[in-house]
Amino acid sequence: MTTGTDRRLIRGEAGEDESRFEQNLRPQTLDEFIGQFKLKNQLALAIEAARSRGEPLDHVLLYGPPGLGKTTLASIIAAEMGAAFQPTAGPLIQIKGDLTAILTNLQARQVLFVDEIHRLQPQLEEILYSALEDYRLDIMIGQGPAARTHSLELKPFTFVAATTRAGLVSAPLRSRFGLILRLEFYEPHDLDVIIRRSARILNVPIQPEGAAVLARRCRGTPRIANRLLRRVRDFAQVRAQGEITATVAEEALALLEVDAYGFDEADRRLMLTLIQKYDGGPVGVNTLAASMAEEPEAIEEIYEPYLMQIGFLNRTPRGRVATALAYKHFQIAQPERSQPTLFQE
Ligand code: ADP
Repeated sequence: MTTGTDRRLIRGEAGEDESRFEQNLRPQTLDEFIGQFKLKNQLALAIEAARSRGEPLDHVLLYGPPGLGKTTLASIIAAEMGAAFQPTAGPLIQIKGDLTAILTNLQARQVLFVDEIHRLQPQLEEILYSALEDYRLDIMIGQGPAARTHSLELKPFTFVAATTRAGLVSAPLRSRFGLILRLEFYEPHDLDVIIRRSARILNVPIQPEGAAVLARRCRGTPRIANRLLRRVRDFAQVRAQGEITATVAEEALALLEVDAYGFDEADRRLMLTLIQKYDGGPVGVNTLAASMAEEPEAIEEIYEPYLMQIGFLNRTPRGRVATALAYKHFQIAQPERSQPTLFQE
């Protein structure tokens, strides 16, 4: 265990002091947005079609783990549509009045971005349905028998919502999005480009080998890549005349206790539970979740995708299995197994 690791360093979520730093590094156009090739093509096509018709873009749902570029894409959508961008988040909208004020103030074709849409209260979500479908807001005036519904017309707008938990978005809300786009973890070659672009903006000298080291150890996540770059830059300034070489990057990451895959605490906990408690599996996701005191959906949507992508974990019909690569990484001898044990749900 690397208990000394600064946990915030390898978490996908943004830290409190991070937004200003991120703002400078945020790509402004679809061309500047690196990777996510399939998603970018789909989005570019939809934007071009909407633009040529002079209509707002269809509503968009973006989903995927934190730090992969959902907020960035939402602001790019607004820029590409030549429309104003208004960001907010599910938990920030507390009462009906908050939501109706936001909706009635929208300008034509404006992009309304709601982050963490799965945390919007259900009764507020219902108000959204008619707003999204017919650009109409139904408001109840009065109470009891005297109550009546008043319908307000809204300007045609684009709703962009983001979530890390697609499974928690209700079916009625989901059905109102014209585009549902999933962000994948980035491959090292894309992260390499992102890191070198950020280094250019921050004016940090970096050698290609130095960028490659960071690209492999940022958990497939641009936000973590940029964060590591910032910390390694400090190390390079103080200890190595400012330039980030492969050695400087390796030394800095060793000091920061970022391991070879940039694992965070949850990654380690999941893999070690699987290996040590269940002999590497197969074990059902519900059993695994109960042992970790987590929800099974959180394991499926947040923790597993990266571990599967780097080849540490397999999903089999009988449950989750740790791979030989995982045993090697944690330096644990893999048990010989002629008859695999099955931990029943
Ligand atoms: P999310 O909303 O998914 O948590 P953000 O959009 O806030 O993630 O992205 C976090 C940071 O990562 C941004 O500030 C941006 O600098 C960087 N980033 C994300 N995706 C990309 C990308 N495809 N290309 C370049 N930088 C990116």
